[in-house]
Amino acid sequence: MFRAVVRRQRGVSVERLASPHIRAGEVRVQVLLAGLCRTDLLAAEGRIPVADGRVLGHELVGEVIEAPGSDLRPGTRVTVNPILPCMRCRMCNVDPRRCLEPRTLGIDVNGAFADQLVVPAQVVLPVPRNMDLRRAAFVEPAAASMAVLKAGLRRGTRGLVYGQGRIAELTHRALRAEGFEGVMRSHSLELERGGYDFVVETEPSPKVFSALLKALAPGGVMVLKSRPSEPVALDVAYAVQNEITLRAVRHGSFEDAIGALHAGRLRVDDLCGPTFPLEQAEEAFERAWDHEESKVFLKP
Ligand SMILES: [Zn+2]
Ligand SMILES: [Zn+2]
Repeated sequence: MFRAVVRRQRGVSVERLASPHIRAGEVRVQVLLAGLCRTDLLAAEGRIPVADGRVLGHELVGEVIEAPGSDLRPGTRVTVNPILPCMRCRMCNVDPRRCLEPRTLGIDVNGAFADQLVVPAQVVLPVPRNMDLRRAAFVEPAAASMAVLKAGLRRGTRGLVYGQGRIAELTHRALRAEGFEGVMRSHSLELERGGYDFVVETEPSPKVFSALLKALAPGGVMVLKSRPSEPVALDVAYAVQNEITLRAVRHGSFEDAIGALHAGRLRVDDLCGPTFPLEQAEEAFERAWDHEESKVFLKP
């Protein structure tokens, strides 16, 4: 038996669950610290569909308890890529990161707000033993923000990250840390027309898309970074007329994110909020709703 934060009809509750069976190729991880993210809040509210009784959470640092059939030794400190490939589809044969039917930790399968979890070995990534636990629990959002680095943007050009949430801040820092020194950050839609060579959106709405398209110089790049639950209208005619490139990116390299966080190249310490014990999950969720600017953690 172990404790876990599960979704119930009206929010979250802390319950005891039977330890899941583990098969060869899977890893049982003792959770040391887990980060709360917007996805968890939306899942708890039912705005992202999640089964009743699902253990939430997808950002974590932990320690391997057992890993039958894998090289991972018990006690190894690890984090997890929460996108779980099916390992059966056509694309998984080529590159599991391109899986046609991936499942998400804490949404489709039981996640990280628990004493322990079981995940496939291929999504488990070792982190340095002396890495700060909060930084290690920040790897997934860091990798998500570092996705912009694979969008083919050019240093020395004029860029803009739009949004006021933590992901906008982190994305801005990720670009700056990689030498995009001139990149601006804004959450005002009063933008210079044609003033930017690339823009990164983090808060999608027809109004935002329209303003960002117009802020791009002809031939510019719009990076799509958010995952709205509903389709969002986009002025395709304007994009075509101005030969705008649309680049959608999800995650960068998790290994790079671990390196950047551990070395302090990507700073997150000032974005870390309070840590709550697992039992106080409800308070932790409330705090996270009220303070988008800093990340709340749960400690089993
Ligand atoms: Zn997250
Ligand atoms: Zn697959």
